[in-house]
Amino acid sequence: MNSFEFLQSELEEMKKEGTFRQLTPLESDQSARVVINGKKVIQLSSNNYLGLTSHPRLRTAALKAVENYGAGTGSVRTIAGTFTMHKDLEEKLAQFKHTESSLVFQSGFTTNQGVLSSILTSEDVVISDELNHASIIDGIRLTKAARKVYKHVDMFDLERALKESENYRVRVIVTDGVFSMDGNIAPLPGIVELAEKYDALVMVDDAHASGVLGENGRGTVNHFGLDGRVHIQVGTLSKAIGVLGGYVAGPRTLIDYLIHKGRPFLFSTSHPPAVTAACIEAIKVLVDEPQLINRLWENTRFFKDGLAKLGFNTGNSETPITPIIVGDEALAHSFSDKLLEYGVFAQGIAFPTVAKGHARVRTIVTAEHSIEDLEEALNVFEKAGKELKII
Ligand code: PMP
Repeated sequence: MNSFEFLQSELEEMKKEGTFRQLTPLESDQSARVVINGKKVIQLSSNNYLGLTSHPRLRTAALKAVENYGAGTGSVRTIAGTFTMHKDLEEKLAQFKHTESSLVFQSGFTTNQGVLSSILTSEDVVISDELNHASIIDGIRLTKAARKVYKHVDMFDLERALKESENYRVRVIVTDGVFSMDGNIAPLPGIVELAEKYDALVMVDDAHASGVLGENGRGTVNHFGLDGRVHIQVGTLSKAIGVLGGYVAGPRTLIDYLIHKGRPFLFSTSHPPAVTAACIEAIKVLVDEPQLINRLWENTRFFKDGLAKLGFNTGNSETPITPIIVGDEALAHSFSDKLLEYGVFAQGIAFPTVAKGHARVRTIVTAEHSIEDLEEALNVFEKAGKELKII
């Protein structure tokens, strides 16, 4: 007897719609070309913006940390699992983000959850962009605060929500810095202006902007010259930084509070030494090797231009995240399958990650791609796109 029949019908439905997916295991390290099913293909699906996952300096730092400190930490941070390197990473992140202090969580996902769920009470309100990341949405679900959603990057609608929120104790506006499925940048100057007008706090999730935008990849706050005017900056260590983890950077009071109240921080074991040491090295690489970010942007411009010339709908992206929007869910997946067959790994993304009818193949170029990699990828996109009548 199948005890999970209650889940089976939904899975069958997904199979019928063509949206049931198998995981795609890599048989190599994560870099510009990866091995899938024994075949080398061009990787256009990772968040490894700067190629740091396989950077020699990060590999060495991780290996040395294992030799000197072992494989794990044996405790949560607040009991016996804080090593000096954890503190060192947090100091470096605070310096990097130009804030007083910072705190590392197990992932970017749990950082958003931990911050939003712990700092607000039922006297407060959180005001969120409708296309914010799932971790922000889940964080909001966990708060007792009232919640309001404003139309995507719509400053008139944000002002409407702020006007309706004047009687709350604290107002927090929360936004992705770069939206993960469309690649557009949040209008942070407008958000900050409204926040100052209506006495609200601003929280930015720079998962896709750290290592990508601003001086040495300091993120959207620095990119817009808003240092000191955004109260809470969240980042991840798993995308451009190339490793694993999340962090929040902000004033000392916020960080001290989270150390005592941030549940994912309090109740989950700290990062292994290899992870933390590699993250520390990554921050140094960002500062020492600015050419990586320059390469990322050169590649981004080249690839976006190429896709536009071929006639694909790439939406409003302003960053290395470039969606190729096809609308139909099953078409997005068959497009992705065809691309893989011809040598390019670019995942199809459908509901619930994006709204129904907005399915896409999402691409992210990295600093590691050569122009030849990208030219070859564009040829594959043209061939698959024509075969499926997308262009
Ligand atoms: N925020 C945004 C905007 C993201 O795209 C992601 C990654 N999918 C996260 C947070 C979560 O980060 P992590 O993968 O480090 O948990």
